[in-house]
Amino acid sequence: MSLVVTGTIGIDTVYTPTGQAERILGGSGTYFAAAASLYGPVRMVAAVGGDFPPQHKALLESFEGIDLAGLETRPDSKTFAWGGKYLANMNSRETLFTELGVLAEDPPRVPPSFADSRCLFLANTHPGVQLGYIGSFPSASLIVADTMDLWINIARPELITLLGKLHGLVLNFDEAELLTGKANPITAGRSLLEHGPRFVVIKKGEHGALLIHRDGIAALPAFPTEDVIDPTGCGDTFAGGMMASIANTTGWHRTALTSAHTADLGSYDSVRRAMVHGTIVASFNIEAFSLDRLKTVTPEDLANRYQKYVAMTRI
Ligand code: AMP
Repeated sequence: MSLVVTGTIGIDTVYTPTGQAERILGGSGTYFAAAASLYGPVRMVAAVGGDFPPQHKALLESFEGIDLAGLETRPDSKTFAWGGKYLANMNSRETLFTELGVLAEDPPRVPPSFADSRCLFLANTHPGVQLGYIGSFPSASLIVADTMDLWINIARPELITLLGKLHGLVLNFDEAELLTGKANPITAGRSLLEHGPRFVVIKKGEHGALLIHRDGIAALPAFPTEDVIDPTGCGDTFAGGMMASIANTTGWHRTALTSAHTADLGSYDSVRRAMVHGTIVASFNIEAFSLDRLKTVTPEDLANRYQKYVAMTRI
């Protein structure tokens, strides 16, 4: 089933307690697409400026599963740039700067060849832009979006309207609290469901993720790891693994899924199972800056860690 992501491609500068990396490849769409491509083909819609380094483009192109027909290069514009700094526990981060660049211009166009996409992920960007994209995908039967503090603070009304058009929303616990004013994640999730989506996934970093679905609640631990180098993009890679395992109904990751999975894309069971794949691929992403770890991950690596996770959580 065709999967498409709209989102940002960024030039990131990241500081962690143990290291730093300047002007590396990042962005919500980038991380999503790289993770999703490990499970099957993914289409990407995004824009970059004339300053986008050729080596970043080459890195994106090295992920064979990513269809870059929707990548627009605007020679006279600047690429979106973001800087972030992680606190000692690596769970909290501070945004140092956000240079919108192409994000402040018209959104990139969706190529006609992408219009038949069945699964749509609206990665982090202005909610007004996310809303505008929905009409470009008339065949989408699963629409899921991500958001973050910046957009909750500056574009709340558009975000609330967007919720009414979604099947699912993925966001961090802090963001869910900011958006709803509810300190309990289940209460926050339930209050978001009232705006329209069928499910909300609340990410809690090293403490895993919660699914608040109209048909039930589930809590999944993160894959425990000591190799924490850079958590940037873990939310997007989580979403990439989750959506791609729903969209790709063949392959090793298919084996553990039920027929209910394909029959009803956004069912409680399908999302709960897909979240395991998101958890696994995010646990690789955290082991290096940018896409450095994802570019070496093999299907065997994913399958092995998946088996370990299943063994660990089976009581
Ligand atoms: P995550 O760690 O999953 O929240 O994703 C971090 C990535 O999102 C970074 O690579 C940034 O380039 C990108 N990013 C940061 N701020 C924004 C924003 N306001 N809108 C869209 N993408 C962003």
